[in-house]
Order: sequence, then structure tokens, then C-alpha cells
Amino acid sequence: MAESTATFAHNLAKAEEYRAVLKVQGIQNMINGEHVAAVSGKTFDNHTPIDNTFVCRVAEGDAADIDLACNAAAAAFPAWRDLPSKTRRNLLYRVAELIEENAEEIAILESLDTGQPIRFMRVAAVRAAANFRFFADRVDQAKAGDAMPADGNQMNYSIRTPIGPVGVITPWNTPFMLSTWKIAPALAAGCTVVHKPAELSPITAMRLSELFLEAGIAPGVVNLVNGFGETAGKALTKHDAIKAIAFVGETTTGSHIMRQGAATLKRVHFELGGKNPVIVFADADLDRALDAAIFMKYSLNGERCTSSSRLLVARSIYEDFTDRLAARVAKIRVGNPLDPATEVGPLIHTTHWDKVNRYVDLGVEEGAIKACGGGRPEGLEAGNYINPTFFKHASNKMRIAHEEVFGPYLISIPFDTEDEALEIANSVRYGLTAYIWTKDITRALNVAHKVEAGMVWVNSQNVRHLPAPFGGVKYSGVGRDGGDYSFDFYMETKNIAIAMGNHKITQLGMG
Ligand code: NAD
Repeated sequence: MAESTATFAHNLAKAEEYRAVLKVQGIQNMINGEHVAAVSGKTFDNHTPIDNTFVCRVAEGDAADIDLACNAAAAAFPAWRDLPSKTRRNLLYRVAELIEENAEEIAILESLDTGQPIRFMRVAAVRAAANFRFFADRVDQAKAGDAMPADGNQMNYSIRTPIGPVGVITPWNTPFMLSTWKIAPALAAGCTVVHKPAELSPITAMRLSELFLEAGIAPGVVNLVNGFGETAGKALTKHDAIKAIAFVGETTTGSHIMRQGAATLKRVHFELGGKNPVIVFADADLDRALDAAIFMKYSLNGERCTSSSRLLVARSIYEDFTDRLAARVAKIRVGNPLDPATEVGPLIHTTHWDKVNRYVDLGVEEGAIKACGGGRPEGLEAGNYINPTFFKHASNKMRIAHEEVFGPYLISIPFDTEDEALEIANSVRYGLTAYIWTKDITRALNVAHKVEAGMVWVNSQNVRHLPAPFGGVKYSGVGRDGGDYSFDFYMETKNIAIAMGNHKITQLGMG
């Protein structure tokens, strides 16, 4: 306890130190290796969700800044594309090392900016470094294609080449880690990048853009433009120099981007919203299922696309399981995200706090039973703090069973049969992840194959394996990344066919 108190005090002191610098310097754009103000000179204010006080001014980029950044990325592309693999790999390793060396600062800045508990942000910073190492190790694999001899007459083989400059648009929930998950494979593939981070969480994106330069990556290879979605984000999706958009965010934004990018035929990869089921059968290891269900909903403030936000429980164990869960949720430690003891921190913004609380009211109005949560915890009046919420006996007809809340907010529904569990699980418009808890292997396989989700975990919380495909079905996403799937997105495949002999060529014009 004394150790944790000392660490909290250390984190608070560090946060103050970083804030003092940010207050003076603000957050600039990074174009062609230079920190620059927005062309218009405009800025917007950044606040911390810890107490909603001002942190710094942020350059408000728009179409003019995006144009400069895209032109810089286009100019830097040929040299970056043609870099020897070994050089590229070493540069990406260096980025990973620098992230590790600066992990404490990154984690504290991320907690300050987003309200995410420091205990998870430390892990996220380490994972960000792992993203760079993982893709650095695959720089050669990125270029690899297939060989396909045809009938002995032709040798067909394919190669992959980087698609060109790409746009990366990220959300506010775990911005640093998510940005690296997109930018690392893009760079390993040989693409250059223009990054537009979320307007609510700009701080660590600037640190990342600085680390690229410190690692020795040439100016213009990664550019950063801050600003709002409807201006800077939109301009990026429409820019002709940009060949693909990797986007993580809301489903409705994804469909806007698809429309905006249509005229320039943008390739898109979307990681969107979710309303993911965790299905607990009576024969499961219930202690482990309980731990996982709580972790997957209440870690990262519930602001997590892969969170298990619908708990479907076999009726025979429903009351006992949900009572145990409610007792645990009521004890979750809500507090300052810089405190290592904190399990749930403040939500990103007052508007998001209002949204989550409206869903608490809606659950009550719709007739679900509120076991705990909603409203502001005592003693935490200043920031966007909310009591973790859990509803029992929701029905699948209710809106709270279908709409993404994106907060520490869980609903539960009892089911009688495997078919009914599947029907409820598949009834929402989303399909990102599903979690299945049972010791019956036949049932696990059957449900895993029939549940509509891009990723399924059996008897597990979300444990990422970086080569495995990551992405959603239905309204949860378009495309996959992870391992080679990322390279398929950031690269073009070119087929080359070479005659191996004198095969027949049909002669025309011979009279
Ligand atoms: P958002 O869609 O509001 O914003 C995401 C980014 O898009 C921001 O940078 C924003 O400025 C930009 N943007 C907004 N409008 C735009 C436009 N018209 N053109 C171009 N860019 C535009 O999302 P958010 O509120 O920041 O993030 C929360 C959402 O992200 C949730 O729905 C969550 O499920 C989703 N998410 C999904 C995954 C996944 O892997 N599937 C991961 C994390 C978050």
C-alpha cells in the first residue's frame, strides 16, 4: 500500500512536470519533420478528464495542413519504399526501443489525456513497442508473394509492393497503442503515413511523431495533423496522394469515410464499434468466467471495442452468477487514473459521461434491474467519474441490449438453450468479438462456428496473438489486420507471368 501511494505521488508529480511543458509548448502538427502550427493559426483547447482542467492548446489543422502533410508523405515515399530491408528493420527496432525507454512518460501522458488507468497504460506502452518489433521482424515477409507455375508453359509469380502514402485515423480510447498497431505495419510494408489522431486525445501522438525522428526515420515518412474529423479527417480521406485509409472509430464515421473516399477510390480498412457477447454455459469454470467477464467489461474504463458488453448466462446459474458479478462490480476501485490502485478512471469527456449516464437511465426506464452503478462516486466530483454499472434481467428487445455504450456498463440476459444463446448473440448489428465459456468441446466448436463475430475466444478473455487476424463482421468492420493480413492491406499484389517455352500464340492478320 505504501509503495502504491509513493508511486501515485510520483505519477502526479511527473504529470505536473509534463503539463508545465505542454502548457507552454502546446501540441503542434508534425509535417516533414518540423513541429508546425496550423496554416490558419487556429488552435483548440485540450482538457484532462481527471478534473476537466485545461492542459494545452492543440494546432487545429484543416484541409491546408492535410495537403502539406500528404505532399510530404508523397515526396518521402520513393526513398522509404526503396530502403534496404535491413535498414528499415533496424529503424523500426529503434522505434520499439525508444518507446520502451519512454514508456513511463507515455503511460502517464496517456492517463492524463484519456483518463485510462495507469496500470493498463503501462501495459499498452509495452504492447506498442511489441507492435514495432513484430512488424520489424516481418519486413522481408511483407514483400513475399506466391509462385504458381501454370501448365508448364508459364511461370507465374507475384510480388507485393507498398501501396503508397496512407492515412491513419485513430480514436481516443487507447490512442497510443492503436496508432502503433496501424503505423508499424504501414512502415514495415514501405508506406509513408499521415496520421490524424482523435481531437480528444492528441498528446501521445505528438510524442510518437517525435520518437520516429529520434529513431532516425526520415522527415516526411510519418506526418501528424491534429484537428477535427469533419475538417482535417475528411480532407485526409479525400486527398488524391493518399492510397488507403486505416480507420479505427465509430461505425457511422466509417460509413462517412467510405463515401468521402469514393471519388479517389480509397482502399479502406475499418475497425468499428461492437456489442460483444460473453456466453456462459452452466458447465463452465464459473470462477474464471466471472473474472474474465468483469475484466473484459470494466478494464480500460469499458471504452474498449472488444469489451464483452452483453453477458448471456444459462438460466440455471443466472441468479448466482450475476449476484456474484454485481458484488464484485460494486467493489471496483474508481479513482484518479494516475493511481496504480485505480481500476476504472474518468470517462474521456463530459459529453461521454452524459451519454453513459443516459444509458443508465434508459436501462431503468426499459425495465431492466439495476444491480449497481450510474451516477458519480462520492468524493470524485471534479472529473468524469462514473460508478461501474451492471444491469440484470435485460431483455433482448431493449435498446440497452443492442446499442454500443462504450463505458463501464454491462447488461445481462438469461438463456435456456444453446440455440437461444446463439440467437441473442447474433441479433445485434455488430460482430466484432464473442467469448464462450463451456467445458463441452462440441458445444464450444458449434457456438464458435455459428456466432457472428470476427474473433472468438473460448474459455478466455481477449488475449492477442499478433499474427492472428483482427477485425469484425457486420457493422463492426471491414478487413483484417495482424501479421500478413496487415501487409495485404498496405500493399499491392502484382502478378508476373513468364513464358517457359514456345507456347501457342494464336495468329491474327495472317490473311
Ligand atoms: P469517432 O469515429 O468519433 O472518431 C474516430 C476518429 O475519426 C477521430 O480521429 C475523428 O476525428 C475522426 N473522424 C470523425 N469524423 C470523421 C470524418 N467524417 N472523416 C474522417 N475522420 C473523421 O470514434 P471515437 O468516438 O473517437 O472512438 C470510439 C469508437 O471507436 C467506438 O465506436 C469504438 O467501438 C471504436 N473502436 C473500435 C475499435 C476496433 O478495433 N474495432 C478499436 C477502438 C475503438
